[in-house]
Amino acid sequence: MKPIRGEAIKTITTHYIDGSFVESHGREVMDIIKPTNGQVIARVTLADEEDTRRAIAAAKSAFASFGRSPKEERTKILRRLHEAASARIDDLTSAMVEEYGGVVQFAGLIVQSGINAFLAAEQALQELPLTRNWGKTTVTLEPVGVAGLITAWNANTLFICLKLASAVAAGCTVVIKPSELSSLQTRVLVEALHEANLPKGLLNVVTGLGTVVGAELVRNPDVAKISFTGSVGVGETIMRDGAKTMKRVTLELGGKSPTILLDDAALDQAIPSALVMAFLNSGQACAAGTRLLVPKSRFDAVTRGIRDAMRNFAVGDPADPKTAIGPAVSQKQYERVQSYIRKGIEEGAEVLVGGEGHPEGFEAGYFVKPTVFVNVKNDMAIAQEEIFGPVLCVIAYDTEDEAIRIANDSKYGLHAAVLGTDLQRARVAWPRKYGPGAS
Ligand code: NAD
Repeated sequence: MKPIRGEAIKTITTHYIDGSFVESHGREVMDIIKPTNGQVIARVTLADEEDTRRAIAAAKSAFASFGRSPKEERTKILRRLHEAASARIDDLTSAMVEEYGGVVQFAGLIVQSGINAFLAAEQALQELPLTRNWGKTTVTLEPVGVAGLITAWNANTLFICLKLASAVAAGCTVVIKPSELSSLQTRVLVEALHEANLPKGLLNVVTGLGTVVGAELVRNPDVAKISFTGSVGVGETIMRDGAKTMKRVTLELGGKSPTILLDDAALDQAIPSALVMAFLNSGQACAAGTRLLVPKSRFDAVTRGIRDAMRNFAVGDPADPKTAIGPAVSQKQYERVQSYIRKGIEEGAEVLVGGEGHPEGFEAGYFVKPTVFVNVKNDMAIAQEEIFGPVLCVIAYDTEDEAIRIANDSKYGLHAAVLGTDLQRARVAWPRKYGPGAS
């Protein structure tokens, strides 16, 4: 990959350990590629096991005092974190747009939600009694210790803020292993949080590979808890390997979420809603509603409606507020989406909108055509596997019972939606399935 001519390449060679930016012990360097044009925009030196152990040691040492901090101290820290992150809201949004091609509307919402997490945690802390008494018995809520926080790339800022806010409210110190695909966003966020003047060692951030930094966090006996957001496969590894040191493990994993459109749905509202859920974050969202279940009686009207409504899902420069769909995050993800589109066609599904290749005018970078398949059977790979791109499968059903059965016929159970005009009916049609990583 070549750098953009005339544009400086950023370099990041440090990690955030014990309150300072320190040079990486790890020597491996990774290129950060801009997904809109495939050019190198940054080089990041990745942490190794030694960097990770230093960060864990700093967090362990800080826990000795922070673990005994009163509510008032944690509350003040959460306020400072909120202020510090708020000061860089525009920079945080721009970094998301640049680094992974997140569309600016979505990126702005994600950043704001992340920043709000500090105030939400502060409120929860105020409302939650940390000590309760029953007769002579006193029950106190104690922090578990050092928390290892591992994030996915697709809303990295949000995940860091959510996990950090909860950990601080609980009195835990943290080592964060952000997605290596989010190194620039993480740097902006950590620079911002550094200004919150935290007790040294409370917050440590080491950017590196999951199999190196993440694996060390999972096996290290000085880490008491892992909070992970990412794929099912990595979640399985973490649960298995964490068992050796009896880690408390929280997993937020993937999805193939159903949206059931009932036959009383108002299509002018239901179709745009279904498409927004499907193409959220350019289809790169865990909760994306990527299976749309449609009654056979309204199938033709729905497919016509989808074709019309797709005109509002413009592919384009993610920095343009009119853009609904940006590029895939990487070449690998671009190819993954293409391979699923091919597979869908081979399996006999019909392309209603989109298809293989780049959208016209967006041949550079990792742009894919937002694609809607109709005549999809739920046992096809495109209906069972998480694609993590803008690909929607439309599946026909005869009865509501059948719709619920199809919705639940999935190894996932993260999210679901029912669209209709009668609330009681919609509640009855709720799929009620909870699969891996449901949160
Ligand atoms: P991923 O599982 O490839 O990586 C997630 C994180 O785990 C990264 O930081 C990675 O470096 C790290 N990792 C990789 N191998 C590891 C190992 N052996 N030990 C410890 N850590 C390891 O996922 P991704 O590609 O970053 O994100 C996409 C996935 O995340 C999708 O499946 C998506 O549905 C899911 N996701 C879920 C939620 C949720 O809240 N449920 C939110 C966003 C994304």
